Amino acid sequence: MEFSKKAANVIFHLTKEKLAWKKCFKDDSCEEPTIGSHSVQENRFLNRIAEDGHVLYLQQKIEKDKASYKFHKQGIGSATTFPGFCGTHDTNVFIPIERKDYEIGDKEQEFLFAYRAFAFEYQAKKSYYQTIRHYYDLFDNKDIETLKRYHPLIPFDEINMEEVKEKLLERLNANEKPLKNVENIRKFLNEKLDNKCFSEITTHSFVFPEEYKLVVSNVFYLYADNLGKEINGANEDIISTLTVLPQENETIVLFSYPTQFDVKFRDFMKYIDQSDLEERKKIFSMLIAVYTENIALNPKLWDSMEEEQKKMFYIIYEGTVKDKITPFIALDLNLFTEIKS
Ligand SMILES: [Zn+2]
Repeated sequence: MEFSKKAANVIFHLTKEKLAWKKCFKDDSCEEPTIGSHSVQENRFLNRIAEDGHVLYLQQKIEKDKASYKFHKQGIGSATTFPGFCGTHDTNVFIPIERKDYEIGDKEQEFLFAYRAFAFEYQAKKSYYQTIRHYYDLFDNKDIETLKRYHPLIPFDEINMEEVKEKLLERLNANEKPLKNVENIRKFLNEKLDNKCFSEITTHSFVFPEEYKLVVSNVFYLYADNLGKEINGANEDIISTLTVLPQENETIVLFSYPTQFDVKFRDFMKYIDQSDLEERKKIFSMLIAVYTENIALNPKLWDSMEEEQKKMFYIIYEGTVKDKITPFIALDLNLFTEIKS
């Protein structure tokens, strides 16, 4: 059956909605309500990059039939937050990275940065699945009244409900495996945290001897390394996390992955190790632009960047090539720059 344009538009609008999944990542049995957890600490990092309490945060905006990402000004109280932990766990779990600066080689701190980045990803995946599930049920039950209440502008009487339902089911099925994967990783990370097996996550840290005003905390599935060697094949979901932390007179980049996959990442890590500082800035900028969804910048940093650079960032970011390319230093994108006054 040809999928009609009208139905396609309806799906597009429905699935961009978010029914946030709100349960504590630490423990399934935790009954405490979730709070707006910062995926990047407000008092340690966000306030360092803020201008009058605000940062630029990358967010999706929906207009007509196009979703686009742009940096928007946001207060640091809410930027990078997600309903992923209850108040108690949000406080207790992260004490080692809340109460002191990051020190290179501190396995517990490195584990926690990766753990928090993953919790953010988990919450997003669960929310997406839950949203599709909810809409599938509404279509399945032909609950047009509720659908109309949610989306008064969509002409539900004119579309083929069965067609939309089928598409939603396809999406549900396509997300079964990624969802199972994140469930397994969540279990793995919580077990390692409880048993203090922090070395089950390997972290490579890279230091720039200057403080750049950006923060990143993100999970991604690296498609291939710099030489095009596949890291995530069609049947794999190997995660890495990228964390960018500005501290006094320096900027730290942490690249982490489960230690069991060390062999997969070895060549790529060697490549970054052997690159000079300028090349590293490009490598990490590309990783951020291609894969990252959770990034905040100082507004003046963005203002100081050349128009060409800003354009390049959005083009790469919104590219459909996301999982297919290994551009790294092929383009001259650099987010690790100083603010020009
Ligand atoms: Zn909890």
